[in-house]
Formats: sequence, structure tokens, C-alpha cells
Amino acid sequence: MSLNFSIIASGSSGNCSILWNEKIAILIDCGCSAKYLSKQLIKLNINIKNLCSVITHAHIDHISVSGINFFIRNQIPVYVTKNIFKDILKKYEQKIKSCLYIEYDKSFTIGNIEVKSFDVYHKDNNISQTCGFTFVTKVKKRNYKIGYITDSGKICDNIKNFLVNSNILVIESNYNKQMLETSSRPYENKQWILSDFGHLSNEDAATAISEIKKLSTVKDSLKYVFLAHISSHHNTYEFAKQAVNKTLLNNNITETNLLIAKRKSKSPTIRIG
Ligand SMILES: [Zn+2]
Repeated sequence: MSLNFSIIASGSSGNCSILWNEKIAILIDCGCSAKYLSKQLIKLNINIKNLCSVITHAHIDHISVSGINFFIRNQIPVYVTKNIFKDILKKYEQKIKSCLYIEYDKSFTIGNIEVKSFDVYHKDNNISQTCGFTFVTKVKKRNYKIGYITDSGKICDNIKNFLVNSNILVIESNYNKQMLETSSRPYENKQWILSDFGHLSNEDAATAISEIKKLSTVKDSLKYVFLAHISSHHNTYEFAKQAVNKTLLNNNITETNLLIAKRKSKSPTIRIG
């Protein structure tokens, strides 16, 4: 069995990633339009019958109205925690009851993929919980792991321990601090982004990646790192990549392929096996 991974869209205009093998395909969030998603699934040759989804949190760029309609129309099973289910229900009222929602509190398996969720630091008046995920599966008798965290205001030791030994790591690198501080955004919004429950700066992402790499012990750990959810208002792809590259080099981390998750186009597919 192989493992494939691609980021379909990443940023405040919509987030959606997918991992798949011959039998199962797992969407992580569905914040883009159904039309765009359907096109990408065809390009990737993914059978919609194999599809299910996990949701990180109820912000509209992670679960959109169009995404919910896609789930209902295609009877896609959606895995969410009780809290995230309540957040989505509050936002979209009765509509999501037509979805095949599966609540969970602990790790679970989808096909031959072991899924673990963990709490991250991202809350506001409308959302009570955000989850990060790890996905582990065997390819040619070896375990491969994908670590996924977006959005989070900070990365604590507990989160690093979940993400350690990931072969593919997706982590948000949301803002350049100077650009955010000098932007024309309302003061309260800036303060929330900067807070422990907002988003992650380029420097914080860089530090977290280096620390996770240092803690990792397996071959090919952090072979691919995607910088995700890069803000179009207070960051650039170049600033994010420069900041992370600099910290990786300072820590003698040279074997990581650093990739940018683009806002409105699919990333290259990583194929294992
Ligand atoms: Zn969010």
C-alpha cells in the first residue's frame, strides 16, 4: 500500500489537504469551494467513494458552506470531536445533521491509517476547540507519519511530542510580525492573532520545526515540511521561507525539503511507496 499527500488550498481563503492510498482518501478540512475541490480530486484521480474527512475547527476557511454541501451531496463521512461538532452546528444550524458525522474523543483508524487528534491553541468567541492530527500508516513494512497543525497560537512540548518523527510535517507560518504590527487591521484582531490562541509567526514556526526535528529519531523525519496558512495580508511566501530556512541552517538541519503551501493552487504531491 502506498501513501500520497497533497495540499489543495491553504490560507484564510480556504484550507483543504488530502492523504490517500489505494483504498481510502482523507480530506483534512474543506474550506474551499466544492467546485474547486471536485476538479482537484479528478486531477489526482481520487475516487469520491473512498473519501472521508476530518475537521480541525469550525472557522469558515476550514469548513465552508460549499464544503458542507459537498459532504451532504456525496454522503461523505466526517470525523469531528463533540466540541467541534457543536461549534459547526451552532454556525450552520440544522444543515449538518444531514451529514454522516462521526464523533470521537480518542485516536481511531480509517482503513489502515491510524489517526490521532490533539488539542491546539486556537479559540475565539465562536470556536471552542481546534485539533491537530497525526496520520500513521505502513508502507512496505515501514511506518510513515504525517503531522498536521494549522492553526495554533503556540506550540507547546505536548504538541511537539505528537508531531515528533513525522516524515511529512504541515505547520502554519501565518505572519511576519513586523508586517502584522504595521498593518491596518483592527487592534483587537491583531491582538488575537498575536495571542497564544491566534496564529503562529514565521519565527515561532521556524523554532518549532527545529525543535521537532531535534527530538525526532527515525530515518527521514521531517523530510518534507510544508509551511501553511501563510497570510496574504501580513506575510509573504518569501518571508516565511527565509525565516524558516535561516533557523534550520543555524541548527544544521539541511536534509529537510521546505515547501510552500499556496493559497489557491495545489501543492506537489508527495508519494511514498
Ligand atoms: Zn482558524
